[in-house]
Amino acid sequence: MTKTSSPDVLERLVSLCKRRGFIFQSSEIYGGTGSVWDYGPLGVELKRNIKDRWWHSMVRTRDDIEGLDAAILMHPRVWEASGHVSGFVDPLVECTNCKRRFRADDERIKGEPGSPDAQCPSCGMKGTLTAPRQFNLMFKTFMGPVEDTAAVVYLRPETAQGIYVNFLNVQQASRQRIPFGIAQIGKAFRNEITPGNFIFRTREFEQMEMQFFVEPGTDMKWFEYWKEQRLRWHESLGIAPERLRFHEHSKEELAHYARAAFDIEFDFGGSLGFQEIEGVHNRGDFDLTRHQEFSGKKLDYFDQPNNRRFVPYVVETSVGADRTTLAILVNGFREEAVPGEEEGRTVLAFHPAIAPIKAGVFPLVKKDGMPEMASRLASDLRAYFPVFYDESGAIGRRYRRQDEVGTPFCITIDGESVSDGTVTVRDRDTLKQERVASEQVRDYVLERIAA
Ligand code: ATP
Repeated sequence: MTKTSSPDVLERLVSLCKRRGFIFQSSEIYGGTGSVWDYGPLGVELKRNIKDRWWHSMVRTRDDIEGLDAAILMHPRVWEASGHVSGFVDPLVECTNCKRRFRADDERIKGEPGSPDAQCPSCGMKGTLTAPRQFNLMFKTFMGPVEDTAAVVYLRPETAQGIYVNFLNVQQASRQRIPFGIAQIGKAFRNEITPGNFIFRTREFEQMEMQFFVEPGTDMKWFEYWKEQRLRWHESLGIAPERLRFHEHSKEELAHYARAAFDIEFDFGGSLGFQEIEGVHNRGDFDLTRHQEFSGKKLDYFDQPNNRRFVPYVVETSVGADRTTLAILVNGFREEAVPGEEEGRTVLAFHPAIAPIKAGVFPLVKKDGMPEMASRLASDLRAYFPVFYDESGAIGRRYRRQDEVGTPFCITIDGESVSDGTVTVRDRDTLKQERVASEQVRDYVLERIAA
């Protein structure tokens, strides 16, 4: 009865997301901007709920992690120290006929780029693909009024460097002792050559990153700890455990600075299949050592009880807010038949804690005091959680409109409600209806969204 991950789920999700106000293409009226997306009224709530849940679990509920909000624009030397100026590159080929650009390892390219028999996957011409060139993925811009190279700055391609350069500021201000972490959520920008798959790979996106500073020698223990914690967090969002798995980076895949790395992958279904949504990396002392070298400032930690100094090792957890949002959308998307009804329904089965709207409130019909009682209840509840009031059309249609945007509960006020003060609460997933006293509805919903 239930179809989940058929190949065109993404296509149907893109259309649902636009129609119901989750996600729109950026600058759509101008024909759109390549792989940049805007979050509409429901999308902004969904993504914010995911970010809030991350912040709550990583910062608010822990006494060993501090929050930070570093600026996007940083000193250009930061990106030399981090290795991004020289190393954040993808090999790129260009077609001299149609001017399209491709990653050199694009499977659609037939033949060796640069040779006469290589064929452009877009226009089909032979011999027009250039030999691969290294293309830096960082966006460059100019700081100050004069466009000379001295003023070149970059839009950060990751949030982590803002944490490293503030390591001592945060440590000294918060008086944290190692092991401790610094977490932040923020925008990152990458001029990806082959972006796509909706919000999976975009040129502007949000990262939720945490850098955990530890004593050398204890790093693998913390690495194992964070791997497990992070997997559990994804499960706590309601992602089906069988759609999550670890992928260990082999020696060839490991970044030059990494001592060990695992991706957490989610099964997006269809042609995408399992793909990375989060990286957990043991970065050793690479980042702090490099920033010491390039800035000339000491970034070591003074271990008071043992009266010694050392540069801490770093275990990083790095997850995309947008990619997690896509995983949540794909995970929750169902098209199914409804027993006893001709029309099927589309459901976004979000965990109640992250659903953008928690409850729909409906008068069964537009008379006999029902709209008055329903709108009073809706405005009482709105003080506690997002509520959608709807009095138009058949009740079945109103239920279906809420199912489609993932609202976990629908509260209906009928003739009985007006006489005895009870209402029905319909559960999105089981379709069961329960009669609940109207003054208890608030707690009924709150208990279930807190889980
Ligand atoms: P990929 O191999 O998919 O390009 P990556 O290994 O370069 O990703 P990291 O640099 O480890 O990714 O970034 C951590 C997380 O940031 C990723 O797991 C992903 O969720 C998110 N992310 C990275 N690049 C993008 C992007 N272009 N669009 C959306 N999210 C991204």
